[in-house]
Amino acid sequence: MYINGAWCTPKSNATFDVFNPANGKKIANVADGTEIDARLAIDAAGSAFPSWSKSTAYQRATFLTNAHRIMLSRKDVLAEIMTIEQGKPLKAARNEVQYAADFLLWYAEEAKRINGEILPSARPDQRFMVLHQAVGVVAAVTPWNYPISMITRKIAPALAAGCCIVLKPAEATPLCAIEMFKIFKEANIPNGVVNLVTAKDPKPIGEEFTTNPTVAKITFTGSTAVGKMLACQAGAHMKRISLELGGHAPFIVCEDADPVHAAKGASLVKFLNTGQACISPNRFLVHTSAYDAFIDTLSTRVAKMKTGSGFEDGVSIGPLINQAAIDKVNRQVTDAVEKGAKLITGGMQLTEGRLADGHFYAPTVLADVTPDMLIYREETFGPVAPIIKYDDNDDVLAMANDTTYGLAAYVYTQNLGRAMHMFEGLRFGIIGINDINPTSAAAPFGGMKDSGLGREGGKPGIMEYLETKTAGLSI
Ligand code: ADP
Repeated sequence: MYINGAWCTPKSNATFDVFNPANGKKIANVADGTEIDARLAIDAAGSAFPSWSKSTAYQRATFLTNAHRIMLSRKDVLAEIMTIEQGKPLKAARNEVQYAADFLLWYAEEAKRINGEILPSARPDQRFMVLHQAVGVVAAVTPWNYPISMITRKIAPALAAGCCIVLKPAEATPLCAIEMFKIFKEANIPNGVVNLVTAKDPKPIGEEFTTNPTVAKITFTGSTAVGKMLACQAGAHMKRISLELGGHAPFIVCEDADPVHAAKGASLVKFLNTGQACISPNRFLVHTSAYDAFIDTLSTRVAKMKTGSGFEDGVSIGPLINQAAIDKVNRQVTDAVEKGAKLITGGMQLTEGRLADGHFYAPTVLADVTPDMLIYREETFGPVAPIIKYDDNDDVLAMANDTTYGLAAYVYTQNLGRAMHMFEGLRFGIIGINDINPTSAAAPFGGMKDSGLGREGGKPGIMEYLETKTAGLSI
């Protein structure tokens, strides 16, 4: 763990094991922290806050650009650790490192643009001034599916705003977090500004984060169930909170879309990270006129995808994170097939030869999916593309919005009016229009409904770490 600028062991001296999901082998053992260690880390962040929050934006930007430079110089090492620990193919891991580094640079620049305002008053002798200041100590909890970019997406804006932070990464991927903190240390970020507590059991740490009076704000990325629970705990102590939770993204292929182009996009975005992404499409709503061509192209491409270790050449489908993830996918696919879905390709755990010791599932396409199937409502977090046919253009928006989630949505259409209509009508926070990667450090990312609160990235991403103060001034 990394507390107050020093590497340390937990008070209990306990450790836990980390495994490679591609072969089940143990790769490391890591400090198993408890609420006692979390408290020490929060105290360190609290002590560092007065001077860090008073440092100039230019000073804070320098630390972030240092970290950005070191990070890019370590791109290959970071990517290899990610592939070993999380499983994604090496090329995808490198892309994630680049995306993660972008946040450090973007927020280094944005630190200098935390502008205030002077507002006119209805009284001639009065002016209003508006000032934005760091909220204080931030406690962050991150997931395993994007184990580096989810860290910088929180730490970069928090530090740029003048906050100090304590991070608890996911228990499946602490090594990526440890590697990032080596970078923060080398970037000379002052003691106590960034702190890392690793733990096998997240619950006591979450309780400490949400109840400790020094913590002003919680930022969480993970499941909706845990996010809601943390929001309740944080609410009882009136802590600010941002939540980036689950999704159930629709991918709409309109009557006027090119079904082959749409299917190519679908094959790329659905199977990215083996479907383990909150913005992964989970319902392909395809117009009758495009249905057969879409399925043809998609299934041909999917059948050719190579599954295996992320270190093997040509592999695009890595392992799922654990057996529980495989079981969930299996349950949804079996349920859909029992209720009449057509299995076009895939549909089983892969256990032959070199895949035997890992958690592999064949990339799967299911056609004729209907609303009575589990997969129509539940987030899958696995490599399954469920396809639903629709007839009536007036219905599809309501079908897409018929979910408790509201994170990402995708639309393929060549009609500009329809694209605008969809953009305005979809109750989702991130919308790809003929585009499968609507994310960037510069663009707000976040959801509606059960997909969360607040935004990460872009200008709104730094506002999450700032309080707004108003002064009325008599002149
Ligand atoms: P997943 O099911 O995808 O692993 P989780 O929401 O369980 O999603 O995990 C996301 C992050 O939330 C991880 O860092 C995990 O350790 C953490 N987490 C899980 N349960 C709790 C909890 N009760 N309190 C605080 N953090 C938690």
